[in-house]
Amino acid sequence: MSYDSNNIFAKILRGEIPAHRVYEDEHTIAFMDVMPQADGHTLVIPKTPSRNILDADPETLARLIAVVQKIAVAAKKAFEADGVTVIQFNEPAAGQTVYHLHFHVIPRVEGLPLKPHSGTMEDQGVLAANAQKLRDAL
Ligand code: AMP
Repeated sequence: MSYDSNNIFAKILRGEIPAHRVYEDEHTIAFMDVMPQADGHTLVIPKTPSRNILDADPETLARLIAVVQKIAVAAKKAFEADGVTVIQFNEPAAGQTVYHLHFHVIPRVEGLPLKPHSGTMEDQGVLAANAQKLRDAL
């Protein structure tokens, strides 16, 4: 499978559609998931166009996971979480729905189950407020 440069995250990277960005560096951006599985659910993506982990180059992955860690630590603090779930899907059979490599970083509260994957669209005001909490923690 090849990379489709019209996927939604490529459009976010090009600034063609809006996102609640919380972090950016030379190689990476992070923004709020619009259908969060828990408060503070964030996506971390490389600027390099990889479809998923199966075609990404190791250097891209190495840089990306360092930012995933940074966001996970900040998210735990920002949302007073007890833990953080990190998820990454590859190809439709594994649950991938957007074909630009990304890691999900999801703050977890003890005893609170995850909401469904790609479930309900969150209110923009809530996403904006959560993005600010995360920026403050970063
Ligand atoms: P995956 O199944 O791992 O490919 O997950 C894609 C994720 O992207 C899902 O959790 C969606 O809620 C999320 N998503 C889809 N469109 C957008 C968007 N425009 N901005 C932010 N997150 C999105």
